[in-house]
Amino acid sequence: MKGSDIRVPEIDAEDIETVNDNGFTEENCAIVTGAASGIGRATAIALAANGLTVVGTDIDIDGLREMKNKVTNLGLDGAVETVQADLTVDDDIEAIVKAANSVGQIRYLANIAGLQHIDPIDEFPPEKFDLMYQVMVRAPFHLSQLVIPHIAESENGKGCIGNMASVHGHYVTSDKVGYNTSKFAIRGLTQSIAAEGDGNIRSFSVSTGYVSTPLVVDQIPDTAKSKGITEQEVVEDVMLGQSRNTNMMDPIDVGNLFVIGFSNLASHLNGGDLMFDGGMTSTYQL
Ligand code: NAD
Repeated sequence: MKGSDIRVPEIDAEDIETVNDNGFTEENCAIVTGAASGIGRATAIALAANGLTVVGTDIDIDGLREMKNKVTNLGLDGAVETVQADLTVDDDIEAIVKAANSVGQIRYLANIAGLQHIDPIDEFPPEKFDLMYQVMVRAPFHLSQLVIPHIAESENGKGCIGNMASVHGHYVTSDKVGYNTSKFAIRGLTQSIAAEGDGNIRSFSVSTGYVSTPLVVDQIPDTAKSKGITEQEVVEDVMLGQSRNTNMMDPIDVGNLFVIGFSNLASHLNGGDLMFDGGMTSTYQL
């Protein structure tokens, strides 16, 4: 998406990366959180295109239905089940794993659901901070602890947990303290899973710059207001200002990273971070 084109792009079949992998079968199940929208939706669709049985979960039931219809319309190989769940509720988290276990061998988990809130530290509502931590750190931890025994007890004991981090898990911008601290934390969870996974249960995180999803497109007006600039300036100067790439990533570009991260192409990706940030954190302009 170009800076001048503020919208959420649609997914076409030719945008999806497929990998020839023995683990990508309909007997194996991938749980994807945040599957109703943006990156989670794209990841659920991409994993279904790779032949996996996908359990897509989200609080947004309409978005889940729309994602499932998209898989049907694209005529993809894998099956998709949907589970409406609130990631702040432990019973709901347990229900997701139970549902996944009833449709296949749980082998992959993509922790993607998230939310944003913009306020300086002295005005940041503590309950919003807690909510962000619950959805973006505690739920991924709880899902991981429920999923790991299923993977460990499977025939070959192999599986993988991918976690959506961000450039904000490496360096930060102002007014996003809840987001910044949650994204640093999820990288710690990723490395902890890798440390205990004995090479059989891998984990990785994905850190992108700005991706054209509702989470980003919807925060543009708030950022414009808080910084006193136009929405166009938010995209071109704030979001893409530090990036050497002049366009945002599409959600499916990130879904494809989860496909690769789960596949045998990434067998030595364990505890590591896929930094796809257009040079944001590794370059600066004089
Ligand atoms: P999005 O708003 O399009 O999707 C987020 C999804 O999470 C929504 O469907 C929402 O319903 C779900 N969710 C929120 N709270 C929930 C809860 N309590 N229970 C269940 N589901 C809940 O956002 P996105 O841009 O696709 O973001 C997905 C992830 O990617 C987030 O973790 C975000 O931090 C991360 N990320 C996004 C970008 C970006 O530029 N869009 C960049 C880096 C990282």
